Amino acid sequence: MLRNVEGSDVQVQGTNDDAQVSKLSCSRMGYFRDEFIQFFVRRASRRSPLINRGYYSRHAALRQLLEQFITAARAAGKQPQVLVLGAGFDTTWFQLAKDAGGRPPYRCLEVDFKEVTQRKAAIIAKEPALHGLLQQAAVAAAAAEPAGAGEEAAAPETAAAQPEAASCSAGAGKAAAAADGSGSSSSGSGAGAVHIDAAAGSVHSPCYSLAPVDLRDLGALEAAAAAAGFDTQAPTYILSECVLVYMDPAQSSPVVGWAGRTFPNALMAIYEQIRPDDAFGRQMVCNLAERGCPLKGLPATPTLQAHCDRLTAGGWAAADARSMDSLYRTFLPHEERQRAERLEIFDELEEWHMIQEHYCIALARNDRDGLVPPSAVGFDAPAPAHRLSLPALPPQMGPGATAGAGAGAGAGLSLGLGLSLGQGRGVGAGAGAGLGAGLMRPSGTGGVMGGGRVLPNAD
Ligand code: SAH
Repeated sequence: MLRNVEGSDVQVQGTNDDAQVSKLSCSRMGYFRDEFIQFFVRRASRRSPLINRGYYSRHAALRQLLEQFITAARAAGKQPQVLVLGAGFDTTWFQLAKDAGGRPPYRCLEVDFKEVTQRKAAIIAKEPALHGLLQQAAVAAAAAEPAGAGEEAAAPETAAAQPEAASCSAGAGKAAAAADGSGSSSSGSGAGAVHIDAAAGSVHSPCYSLAPVDLRDLGALEAAAAAAGFDTQAPTYILSECVLVYMDPAQSSPVVGWAGRTFPNALMAIYEQIRPDDAFGRQMVCNLAERGCPLKGLPATPTLQAHCDRLTAGGWAAADARSMDSLYRTFLPHEERQRAERLEIFDELEEWHMIQEHYCIALARNDRDGLVPPSAVGFDAPAPAHRLSLPALPPQMGPGATAGAGAGAGAGLSLGLGLSLGQGRGVGAGAGAGLGAGLMRPSGTGGVMGGGRVLPNAD
C-alpha cells in the first residue's frame, strides 16, 4: 500500500477540520440542517455572515445536484451510488439516511487519507446516533433486498413500484447488530454486516462504506469501490469538494480519468477555486501556500474552460462549469436564497461577488443509458420538487426579526474572525479570503487583523 505522508498532506488534512467548523456554524445559524456535524467538531466557532453565506451557497448547490441525481436515478428504477473523494467529515449520507427514516436513498463510499478516516471511523463507532443509523440502514437494506436477488442491486421494477423504499439494498447476508462504542466493532455476518475498524480507518456496511485511500493510488481507489459493492454500470455521482485542487495535476488528472472511464452512467461534481491570476486570486493562492497547503492544481485549471477541458480530456462525454457567483443567482431556487438571506444582516456585497467569482462547480457527465440526462440533472435542470434537509427557520430568525440581531452579530464576528473589510473592499490587494471553501482561521488560531491580511482556512 502506498503511504506517502508529505508535510503538506498533514496541512491539507487540517483543511477538513476548518471546513467542518464552518459547516457547523452555518447549520447553527439555520442556513441548512445538519444534525451530525456537531459530532465532528471539537471546538465550534461562529463564522462571519460572509463566510456563512459562502458555505451555504456551496452546500446548497452541491446538495441540489445530488438530489437531482438521486431523483433521476430512482425515477429510472436504478440504485444510485455516490463516491465521495476526500470526504473528510462530510455528513451528507447520515443526514439523508436519517431524513429518509433510516432508509438511505443511495449507497455511499467515502474515501480520504487514513489519518482522516481513522478519526471519522472512531467518531462513528463512538456516537450512537451515527452507528445506529448504519445498523438501521443495514436492516432496511436487507428488507429491501428482492427475494432471490443475491448480490444484485434492487430490481428496477421493485424500486419503481416502491419509490419511497430504501434505494440501497444489501447483498447477501443478514443485517447487523450493534457497535460497542469502543472504537471498533464487528457485527452481523455476510454483506449485511456493519464493521467499524477505527484503527484501520474503515467502515463497511451495506449502504455506507468509509475507506482509507490516498487518491494518488488509483489501485486502492478501485479496490475500495469494489469492496463497497459499487456496480460500475449503476448511476454514480462522484463528488470532489475542495480536494483535487490540493493535488499535483499529474496526480489528480488520473483520478478524473479513472472515474470517467469506469462509470458510463455518472456525474462528477468538482467544487474548487479558480482565477488565481487577478489580485484577489493571487492573494488567495499566497495565503494557502503560506499555510502549508498550496493549491497545487490551480495553475492547470485556472478557468471554467480549463475545468471542462480536464474533464473531457479525462474521457467524460460532456462537461459544464460555472462560477459560484453565477450558480447562486441562476441555480439556487429564489425562495431558498431569500430564506438564507434573511438569516443574517449582510452588506459585504462587493466581497461576496469577488469571492464567489473565485469558486466554481465543474460538472462532468457520462450518460450512456440516458439515466442522468441534462434535463434532469445539471445546472439548467429544475430543482427536485421535494427538497431535503432544509431547516425550518429558527423563530428568532424569522422575517422582520433579523435586522437588529443580525447587524450586531455580524460586525462583532467579522472582527473575531480576522476578516479585514477595509482592505477587502479595495479590490483585490487585501481580499484574498478563501471563501466558499473554508475562509478565515478560527479566532484564536491566527486570524490576522493588524496587517490587514486575511488568512483563509483552506478546505
Ligand atoms: N470534502 C470535504 C473535506 C474537504 S478538506 C468537505 O468539503 O467538507 C480536503 C480533504 O481532502 C481532506 O480531508 C484531505 O485529507 C482530503 N485529501 C486531499 N488530498 C487527498 C489525497 N491525495 N487522498 C485522499 N484524500 C485527500
